[in-house]
Amino acid sequence: MTHNITLIPGDGIGPEICEAVKRCVIAAGVKINWEVAEAGADVLKKYGTPLPESTLESIRKNKVALKGPITTPIGTGFRSVNVAIRKELDLFVCLRPCKSLTGVRSKYKNIDLVVVRENTEDLYAGIEFEEGKTETLGLISEIEKLSKKKISKDSGISIKPISISGTKRIVKFAFDYAVKNNRKKVTAVTKANIMKFTDGLFFHAAREVAKEYNTIEYEERLIDNMCMQLVQKPELYDVLVLPNLYGDIISDLCAGLIGGLGVAPGANFGNGLAVFEAIHGSAPKYAGLNKVNPTAVLLSAVLMLRHIGEQASADKLEKAAAKVIAEGKSVTYDLKLNRDDPTAVGTSQMADAVIAAL
Ligand code: NAD
Repeated sequence: MTHNITLIPGDGIGPEICEAVKRCVIAAGVKINWEVAEAGADVLKKYGTPLPESTLESIRKNKVALKGPITTPIGTGFRSVNVAIRKELDLFVCLRPCKSLTGVRSKYKNIDLVVVRENTEDLYAGIEFEEGKTETLGLISEIEKLSKKKISKDSGISIKPISISGTKRIVKFAFDYAVKNNRKKVTAVTKANIMKFTDGLFFHAAREVAKEYNTIEYEERLIDNMCMQLVQKPELYDVLVLPNLYGDIISDLCAGLIGGLGVAPGANFGNGLAVFEAIHGSAPKYAGLNKVNPTAVLLSAVLMLRHIGEQASADKLEKAAAKVIAEGKSVTYDLKLNRDDPTAVGTSQMADAVIAAL
């Protein structure tokens, strides 16, 4: 069967990584009709927007996309394209499995955590009021009237909406994922002791959902304590479910536990659509140098192959990548003991090694 999949190469290091990963996927024996769609800083001039409607249409039509990282232009008035794709398509789940790989240097061994991050609400909702603007001053005086608390007039304001329905659907996803993937426990993480009406609501709604899953343990942690616990005893945790901002931060922490951004995959789901992408960004300083690690996007592609039912090819590709990394020969600079190791290979050559190991 031939699958129709949208490929968004992105910008910065995105295009070279996507090209390398595409070759690996094809070599694993999967038949894909790639529909290349543009997004990012490089298309801003051409379309007047970094996220053309045709790209969203392509994802809606094909239902599955593989995406390279995209730079967030600073000072153009455009928000993050990555956040915009998730919001426009209501991709409310950001799934980030973090599993130790032999051969990747890390202070930790045997990490096996799954971060389930809510993708559409919270401080990422994009509802912000700039310091000094008339509407901001109006909002401040309205809030002061309602809350009987003082806000400094020279404040900027960001709004943090967290809903019962938004929380229930993300927590349900976390539990369903736990059931399907033989996981034992779901831990909800917030700062509910301070933000009672948003983070507190998240815990309340999560408890309601947890009652429906009697085979999976449920527990709650506060985000500050969770950071310390993940550093001290990550083996105590399994699936973590978090609102957007905490989920973003904890994802990077968990990526750090397994050796860094170069090996941490991710996926976004919602409404029957799925967009697969690495946690890492576009690392502009390495763009076009054939230098960075393709593993994170490659493992995102492995998640994609499982999603489209290509289990055997996914397993084959994952094993081949693990073999190349464990051997430590044909790997990029970040996987070498010494970052200046002259035997480090480029993005494309690491993909060649994975293909040879298939
Ligand atoms: P980044 O992830 O791009 O880079 C941080 C550092 O991590 C790099 O300098 C590099 O040392 C290392 N790194 C990242 N990917 C690597 C790889 N594949 N192999 C080896 N090393 C790697 O983060 P940043 O510098 O904060 O962000 C750069 C741009 O990317 C920003 O515009 C940001 O908004 C954007 N961004 C996009 C996404 C996305 O597309 N989903 C995610 C995060 C950041």
